[in-house]
Amino acid sequence: MKNTLLILLLAITIATNLMSQNDFSDVTITTEQVTDNIYMLQGAGGNIAILTGEDGTLMVDDQFAPLSEKIMAAIKDISDNSVHYLLNTHWHGDHTGGNENFANAGATIIAHDNVRKRLSTENVRPFGRTTPASPEAAWPQLTFNDEMHIHYNNENIHLIHNHNAHTDGDAFVYFSDSNVLHMGDCFFKDRFPFIDRDMGGSPDGYIKAVSQAILITDTDTKIIPGHGALASKEDLLNYYNMLITMRDRVKKSINDGQSMEEALAANLTEGYESWGTGFINDEAIVKVLYGAYKE
Ligand SMILES: [Zn+2]
Repeated sequence: MKNTLLILLLAITIATNLMSQNDFSDVTITTEQVTDNIYMLQGAGGNIAILTGEDGTLMVDDQFAPLSEKIMAAIKDISDNSVHYLLNTHWHGDHTGGNENFANAGATIIAHDNVRKRLSTENVRPFGRTTPASPEAAWPQLTFNDEMHIHYNNENIHLIHNHNAHTDGDAFVYFSDSNVLHMGDCFFKDRFPFIDRDMGGSPDGYIKAVSQAILITDTDTKIIPGHGALASKEDLLNYYNMLITMRDRVKKSINDGQSMEEALAANLTEGYESWGTGFINDEAIVKVLYGAYKE
């Protein structure tokens, strides 16, 4: 009996370990050079930007905690220094999951005020789904309200907050000397966006953030989206047109008196079928827009 129990416990332990390894063990971190000293790293979760130089290494977003070692190894290939500053574009776990690991390795975390607020408290969503507070080491030590400048590696790094866009704590990171913009999840390249209304996001704020990015960028700007491949201004304009078209179609459906069910059945994503193949499908984008504009 005792042996059976032991074997059972052992089996459970092995299965649990395998499961947690399986989550990220297949993930490879790829590095793409964007400019002389800016790189985009991809693995699982949000896109990472790395700025290297004489002063040290600055990083934007850090994906999931189990990937930190692999990400650190990838950074070692492009820089002699470990991460000095770590910027978060917003609080979601696929962008901040590695915060604790990088902080423990010496990084100072910088983000919007609301990123610290959300990481340091339990966040409750409808139907009781909660995200627990992160350990204190994961909380940003330096926070800002509307904007912030970091002068580092001969680069003027401009952090710009966007009000109520993807969440309530979004920031663009604009490397103004190199003309590289990291947009966080205010840009899902060629995909419908996730607009996290439970956490302070809104379609109007989201569209405003994208308009702001259009003002900041020119045809030479390299744009790092929160998710998807390295992008250009043309990609950003396509994204903006999709957002405006979807917004107007859903608003018209509401003005025509359609119910949510009728709106969902009305093929409002016509022409944008390929945009619904990611995290947010055709139904989800109509639902979030309908919910927001019906209010
Ligand atoms: Zn996000």
